[in-house]
Amino acid sequence: MLGVQISKGVNAQFKFVESAEKLFNEDFSDEENFVGNVEVVGEVLDDGLTLKIVGKIYCRKKFICDRCLIQAEENQVHEFDEEIDESEIVDGILDITELVRDTLIAAQPIQNLCKPDCKGLCPKCGENLNDGKCNCDKSDVDPRLAPLLRFNAV
Ligand SMILES: [Zn+2]
Ligand SMILES: [Zn+2]
Repeated sequence: MLGVQISKGVNAQFKFVESAEKLFNEDFSDEENFVGNVEVVGEVLDDGLTLKIVGKIYCRKKFICDRCLIQAEENQVHEFDEEIDESEIVDGILDITELVRDTLIAAQPIQNLCKPDCKGLCPKCGENLNDGKCNCDKSDVDPRLAPLLRFNAV
């Protein structure tokens, strides 16, 4: 559990370094794709009226590029900024495990690319076009069939 100790009227800073396996506790099938630990830093702000939690999650993920199918890794930083209800604090401890987990899950991109302008694979010969051009004539490939051809070529 990622527990932040809270004292009334005092801002509480926190930092956690945790393995993805422990953090997700099998709630998230993507945990094996995290490289190294997940780091969470932030602060609980108490202005006397409302409680707020702000912070950042740092992690490194590995994935298969959706276009060129190579394995790649990237560093991710995700921010959170939420109001806290006092009822969430139990015995002076605020458990932020779920907040961190939900933030990470919601922040995962729909498309994984090794780089924003990845050129992908040639639909004819399967050559990785990031490494250079192949000699195929691209003009006669039906664009609706291109994704199929790409998989056949692998
Ligand atoms: Zn790629
Ligand atoms: Zn080609």
